[in-house]
Amino acid sequence: MVRVARVLPFRTNRYVVDELIDWARVPDDPMFQLTFPQPEMLVPSDRASLARAEETGDAAALEATVRAIQRRLNPHPAGQVTHNVPTLNGRPLDGLQHKYRETVLFFPSQGQTCHAYCSYCFRWPQFVGLDGLKFASSETDDLIAYLRAHPGVTSVLVTGGDPMIMRAPLLRRYIEPLLAANLPSLASIRIGTKSVAYWPHRFVEDDDSDDVLRLFEEVVRRGKTLALMAHYSHPRELATPLARRALARILATGAVVRCQAPLIRHVNDDARAWSELWRTEVQLGAVPYYMFIARDTGARRYFEVPLAQAWEIYRDAVSSVSGLARTVRGPSMSATPGKVVVDGIAEIRGDKVFALRLLQARDPSWVGRPFFARFDPAAAWLDDLRPAFGEERWFFEDEEADTPNRRGRLLPVIEGAA
Ligand SMILES: *Cc1c(COP(=O)(O)O)cnc(C)c1O
Ligand code: SF4
Repeated sequence: MVRVARVLPFRTNRYVVDELIDWARVPDDPMFQLTFPQPEMLVPSDRASLARAEETGDAAALEATVRAIQRRLNPHPAGQVTHNVPTLNGRPLDGLQHKYRETVLFFPSQGQTCHAYCSYCFRWPQFVGLDGLKFASSETDDLIAYLRAHPGVTSVLVTGGDPMIMRAPLLRRYIEPLLAANLPSLASIRIGTKSVAYWPHRFVEDDDSDDVLRLFEEVVRRGKTLALMAHYSHPRELATPLARRALARILATGAVVRCQAPLIRHVNDDARAWSELWRTEVQLGAVPYYMFIARDTGARRYFEVPLAQAWEIYRDAVSSVSGLARTVRGPSMSATPGKVVVDGIAEIRGDKVFALRLLQARDPSWVGRPFFARFDPAAAWLDDLRPAFGEERWFFEDEEADTPNRRGRLLPVIEGAA
């Protein structure tokens, strides 16, 4: 654990340790798996070279070994950092990402860490400071100028890391200018956050908790939807009185809370955990929103759930909750063309296939069109799949074929949520 934490960033807090982890069930406990790096997350050869480097006692050699392993786990595949970065008058706007017409992602530079770290998380270059891999912006001015130039954007999603790591005055410095800009096209401000699970004190008993809630109220009073995109991975995160009070206090500001999380082996690869999670969210006034397929994690093999199994988990969970919780969509992959949901497994004239659909797409005309992939029980991502019925390409690749930056692989992309 100490050894693997040299490579994978580790951060926890007393609330996670005392209230969320069931120590009687360690190491299998889902909250322990979610927050404590495990030795098996590194492949045996990397574990061995790390052990050898430790034995030499040479700090520089150890550092070099750690960095080499981190780069092999590189969570930003080639090109990712510059993909979907918008420009204004030819100048790239770092800290913004614009992929889907309606929504711009905003990464405030002060919001790029979290109250505790998820062991699978791929955003760790932001935390451990690998050069040149960082998304950041302190520039609300750029964001506002971009929104003025693009009235088609109706939603700003503030994300990280976790923007709720910021103190209330700093959060205000990002949010208030957005309100003061009086952008009629801006309908909603969303904040992607895991704080509701890892540090619910943020909304209850930190010394600036009330000020945070006043800020939320101000957004609502200005006629904008404030949506907290709450990252709940497991029902245990909503079992504590503090977590429930936090949610109640957020909802009392007029904010809406929509819930999303990736499906992670060892953590929540279990239909009953999801159905309990969604039922509890609805009971507490929140809205189940997305179940994601995780791909771009540091230790992919350890956390991966095959698509066929992911779909079964989703179906079993969704079929055991009332319609009020069936607002949740998934399992969804955020890939190069967009958010691809696995709608099911079917047999069509003797061919076993996955039925797929784009929930969001770089080209809005692709949304909602069913398409099919050859069934493969081991496939865990879109680029493991081949089109069904002998097709050469996906329908959206035909339309992409002549664009200069068309890429051979369907890369995972940064998810707009902590
Ligand atoms: C998921 C995502 C969004 C938000 O999509 P919604 O379906 O509106 O929640 C925006 N941008 C990117 C890049 C995303 O991955
Ligand atoms: S960015 Fe999100 S997934 Fe990553 S460690 Fe923070 S809370 Fe977890």
